Amino acid sequence: MYYDNNTVIYFNGNFVKAAEAKTDLYGQSLHYGYAVFEGIKSYHTENGTKIFKPKEHYDRLRKSAETMHIPFNYTTEQLTELSYELLKINNFSNAYLRPLLICSPNMGLSKGQESYLAIEAWEWSNGYLANKMRIMTSSYERPNPKAFHVEAKVSGHYVNSILACQEAKDKGYDEALVLDSNGYVAESSGANVFYEKEGALYTPAKGSILPGITRATVFDICKELDIPVYEKFFTPNEMRGADAAFFCGTAAEVVALESLDDVAFTKDWDNSVSSLIQNAYRNLVVGKNLEEFKLQLR
Ligand code: PMP
Repeated sequence: MYYDNNTVIYFNGNFVKAAEAKTDLYGQSLHYGYAVFEGIKSYHTENGTKIFKPKEHYDRLRKSAETMHIPFNYTTEQLTELSYELLKINNFSNAYLRPLLICSPNMGLSKGQESYLAIEAWEWSNGYLANKMRIMTSSYERPNPKAFHVEAKVSGHYVNSILACQEAKDKGYDEALVLDSNGYVAESSGANVFYEKEGALYTPAKGSILPGITRATVFDICKELDIPVYEKFFTPNEMRGADAAFFCGTAAEVVALESLDDVAFTKDWDNSVSSLIQNAYRNLVVGKNLEEFKLQLR
């Protein structure tokens, strides 16, 4: 359950009870998936509750809204402040925040005239990370970048994610690896992907992916720790049997992959560069620096 009778959300200018908030049934967002959203995490740190990269997330929300012609009237500073206030009201520290921008009633196919912003939040402890994931190459492709603005975080895109994720689950896997329309690896249903070979990391180049904020953070970690990392287009065949691989995203953080299409990644996870990235990311989100990892690499 995401909320109870006491949970408060931000909705269109007010803090209101989640259980009492209402929207209409005549909106383009509900009917056509014409809405944009974000997924943000906050963490309990030595310096209190800290939202990880709020500027990057709220800048992306604005960009997604602009790309989709949905009116958006908030500054990133306002949204960050509202988010901290929401966490405080609900007494949340380790939490997931879900800002969602929806449109006013309109059954037509012209752009949204008015929009409403909701920010929902729920407590999140890291259960997701416990196991290594077995993944399969999806029979679904990611949305064609000539049909959708794939770099925007648009609700409707996630119908594709649901199909891919459910197909993988129905076949006994944990997640899907979804390709682009040229047969190159793109991403999973809700996270970016990296694989490791001989100490270097590889990730799909931009074009058919949502270029994640976590993906950018992995690049920053690699730069700081002097780990070679490359963007390129590659097939699942190139990735199968690599030394190690991981998914990364705000919700997933950095999650180890066990196998792709039943072909195991070969290196012991704990001795991989990928595992170092996973641990470094866990440090960064709680405001710690990466000095201990630099020492490990010497
Ligand atoms: N790709 C998709 C399709 C996603 O839904 C997400 C999660 N937002 C990501 C990648 C990772 O993005 P981020 O690191 O910004 O959460």
